[in-house]
Amino acid sequence: MKTSKDPLQPLLSLFLARGIEVVFTPLHCSHGGITCYKGRWFCLISSFDNLETQKFTLCHEMNHFLYHQQDPRAINDESLEAEADQGARFTLARMG
Ligand SMILES: [Zn+2]
Repeated sequence: MKTSKDPLQPLLSLFLARGIEVVFTPLHCSHGGITCYKGRWFCLISSFDNLETQKFTLCHEMNHFLYHQQDPRAINDESLEAEADQGARFTLARMG
């Protein structure tokens, strides 16, 4: 359980506000992902990654949720990945 002093808390609040459960779990092949299962949204974040990578992944996955959840293209489409990366860099830069 993350505490309120967790540096990820501002980002986690964005997920909570949208009803998305964030799960930190050991992922061997990915930094994270976001998916809808039985009507509930889940964002998986690799617990193997350091804090900075987890921050970036949270922003990346939020961009997928905000801009790609209705996209007919596959979630692993390279152009969608580039868009999510760009959005994550923009969000992190604005957060300072
Ligand atoms: Zn992605």
